[in-house]
Amino acid sequence: MSYDSNNIFAKILRDEIPSFKVYEDDYTLAFMDIMPQAEGHTLVIPKFEAETLLDIPADELTHTMTTVQKVMSALKSTLGVDGVVLMQLNGSAAGQTVPHLHFHLIPEHLSKLNRHGAQMGDMDKIKALADKIRAAL
Ligand code: 5GP
Repeated sequence: MSYDSNNIFAKILRDEIPSFKVYEDDYTLAFMDIMPQAEGHTLVIPKFEAETLLDIPADELTHTMTTVQKVMSALKSTLGVDGVVLMQLNGSAAGQTVPHLHFHLIPEHLSKLNRHGAQMGDMDKIKALADKIRAAL
């Protein structure tokens, strides 16, 4: 499947649209979800152009999962939660809406999550939380 370089996360990677970034390195970017399913909902993406988990080489995936691990740890310490839901959708048939591989880190119990990508969050709150999470990274 061909990668759509105009998807919203590709634009975030190119800084064409703004985002609340919490972590960035040569291989990955982590930023806040603007329609959070719970407070602190964060997304981790590879810089590699992959649409789903099946489109990324193992070494790039390893870098991505290392960032997932770092961000999860920062979420736990910043928000003082014990549990983080890690979610990743593959293909529109599974509900994926942005065609660039991404991992959702949602620091809440599965049963309490808001609906997926349904409602814009409070940008001031999200920004304030992003500042705290970034400081923990
Ligand atoms: P998916 O449905 O592809 O697994 O998840 C896409 C996620 O991206 C959703 O949780 C949605 O809230 C989030 N999202 C959609 N558009 C934007 C955007 O412009 N900026 C940010 N930061 N998140 C977005």
